[in-house]
Amino acid sequence: MSLEHVEKMIKDHKVEFVDLRFADMRGVQHHVTFPKSIIEPGLFEDGKMFDGSSIAGWKGIHQSDMVLLPDASTAFLDPFTADPTLVLTCDILDPATMQAYSRDPRGIAKRAEAYLKSSGIADQAFFGPEPEFFIFDSVRYANEMGHTFFHVDSEEAAWNSGKEYDGGNTGYRPGVKGGYFPVAPLDSLHDIRAEMCKTLEAVGIEVEVHHHEVANAGQCEIGTKFNSLVKKGDELLTMKYIIKNVAHRNGKTATFMPKPLVGDNGSGMHVHQSLAKGGTNLFTGDGYGGLSQMALWYIGGIFKHARAINAFANSTTNSYKRLVPGYEAPVMLAYSASNRSASCRIPYVANPKARRIEIRFPDPMNSGYLIFAALMMAGLDGIKNQIDPGAPSDKDLYDLPPEEEKGIPTVCHSLDQALEELDKDRDFLKAGGVFTDDFIDAYITLKMKEVTAFRGATHPLEYQMYYAI
Ligand code: GLN
Ligand code: MG
Ligand code: MG
Repeated sequence: MSLEHVEKMIKDHKVEFVDLRFADMRGVQHHVTFPKSIIEPGLFEDGKMFDGSSIAGWKGIHQSDMVLLPDASTAFLDPFTADPTLVLTCDILDPATMQAYSRDPRGIAKRAEAYLKSSGIADQAFFGPEPEFFIFDSVRYANEMGHTFFHVDSEEAAWNSGKEYDGGNTGYRPGVKGGYFPVAPLDSLHDIRAEMCKTLEAVGIEVEVHHHEVANAGQCEIGTKFNSLVKKGDELLTMKYIIKNVAHRNGKTATFMPKPLVGDNGSGMHVHQSLAKGGTNLFTGDGYGGLSQMALWYIGGIFKHARAINAFANSTTNSYKRLVPGYEAPVMLAYSASNRSASCRIPYVANPKARRIEIRFPDPMNSGYLIFAALMMAGLDGIKNQIDPGAPSDKDLYDLPPEEEKGIPTVCHSLDQALEELDKDRDFLKAGGVFTDDFIDAYITLKMKEVTAFRGATHPLEYQMYYAI
């Protein structure tokens, strides 16, 4: 899509406003809106100035000016605004040099793609993320539900506490882990998901499937078609925007928080991945699960660096409440063709062109730019250094005898641990100048603030465990 295409969209749809968007280091999306008159050839070369000092972890107040450079190829019509509004995703530039700002996640994703091409290993990397989310009516208070101390005011949530909900009989709701996937009326979210899917299609995101997920309380998943790194990063932000706004339009909220309900499945974002060269899938081979040696080394690289990747792929304090045994979320860094308790699953695909790996520890908190880039940089390190991922584990890893369990490395168990691992293990990210020390240091400082805030907060569970002692 070019400037002409953008101009045509403006004319055809009587666009009034142009909305420039970008994501910060935490994966939060921001926007600023201009009259349509900003669309002229210079916009896509000079960009628009904005104050970067109020964006968490970016510039200080004394050097706050930054440039938003829109990418014409990302244009879509906002499905939610009253006046026709064209959305453009932007890169962030430093005005002094007009070069990419080192703390812009989209810039990192672009450098990762360039690095892949320059490596000669492959010319394309594909990502198929599966973000899960909950739809709730509203969240009233966190506390007082026995071991489920997070109370959600919702008919969907009635199953979780039967007696706490005024609506009486809750037998018509799925029970704990009962959401996968009975027909309506047990699944009461079919229409809202369908509306989300149609809205996704309207902005050019191809939908493959939608369904209720395993957790009882309105957990959902919408599957979309895989795409290349930066494009899928852009799409993931738009997808979250659409899911949250369709929920909002229906008087509900959607959350991608990894573990909103204690005692039931959390929300992950499995990431399917493959590499291709000249249109040939490089992950197809005659090794385990129909994978190539290159794919196995890629897995080896991800396992070697997984605990640093956790800092991006499991980027909140809440993320680690999902990564516990028993809820289809992985703990062990192992791979298997079938086993959903492993961090890497090799999905069965008959068509060799679609052969891929599925990394299961990520969740949908941070942007795809950082998560996909970190995974790919680790995978490429694995290929370059021929890192062996070890033997596959086809057993249920939640239920291993302790001696066996001891031998298998695990993901991190807390955000501060992941940030420490990232601090120590960062060279694989810095290859080709993709991630910089400036970015990694700023990211660790920013995220440590969340760790410190949580450390200093008295937790509802502590009342339960200690109040009466
Ligand atoms: N919700 C599970 C997780 O946390 C995944 C469930 C599934 O997609 N099979 O990863
Ligand atoms: Mg799922
Ligand atoms: Mg999956």
